[in-house]
Amino acid sequence: MSAENEPVLTVQDGDTITFETYDCFTDQITAEDQIVEALDWNKINPATGPIFVEEAEEGDVLEVTIRSIAIGDTATLMTGPDLGVLGDVLKSTTIKRVPIKHEKLLFTDDITIPINKMIGVIGTAPKKELGSISCGVPDFHGGNMDTTAITEGTKLYLPVNVQGALLALGDCHAAMGDGEVSVCGAEVPAEVTVTVRVLKEHHIPTPYLIKDEYISMIASAKTLDEAAEMATKNMVKVVETFAELNSDEAIHLLSLAGQLRISQIVDPNKTARMELPLRYLKHLK
Ligand code: CA
Ligand code: CA
Repeated sequence: MSAENEPVLTVQDGDTITFETYDCFTDQITAEDQIVEALDWNKINPATGPIFVEEAEEGDVLEVTIRSIAIGDTATLMTGPDLGVLGDVLKSTTIKRVPIKHEKLLFTDDITIPINKMIGVIGTAPKKELGSISCGVPDFHGGNMDTTAITEGTKLYLPVNVQGALLALGDCHAAMGDGEVSVCGAEVPAEVTVTVRVLKEHHIPTPYLIKDEYISMIASAKTLDEAAEMATKNMVKVVETFAELNSDEAIHLLSLAGQLRISQIVDPNKTARMELPLRYLKHLK
């Protein structure tokens, strides 16, 4: 993701757009016995886009409402040496292809897993001075956040760092657990329909999301500890502002009612989130 990327489409504030996305292997894997070494690793984790949102200017916030995530009937999994939490133990890379039927992943003959569709990579262009950031890396612009709450019905809020925002997304999963411990979700190509809206003079730290009845501050950093602290401190700011509490009251509230969650622990930056029911923020419109 980069300020230099040419937009593939220009849209207006309020428009609804459908992104067609490859899976994280650019659809290169079609069989479990495929030779992993033969894959083009420069094609891993692509994002579709970017789109230029006409009214979006540096300093604004882009609201992305996820209307739907349509997926096919097969997901791909991969893990192996140097990948994921078991990367120091596994001796060889394995591919698993999993059929999807009646809203379930048919993991084995007797294990099924409910689908939990989500977007792994979604972000705006980073600030110009940061150059380009790989779609594999989550950071202040969003990116590879691998957050299970980025799903149908969610409103995601991303910073606008450059004119037009330059929104791109990809790496959809049919299911993933918090942590993404193997290094991948149930990887699928998808059609993702979103509505974009530009918010001016919006002062909540990004990225964050609103889903159902809660707000969740998302943060990525070199370590999970740093990411968890950043997400929590950003939520403290939100509580101070919208519940009108001072810092010590705000952190007490989060200690009692906030849920600090792991998004993923396998990407070049780790991602955590702090979640709080919206009912505590009575001044948030
Ligand atoms: Ca990912
Ligand atoms: Ca993925």
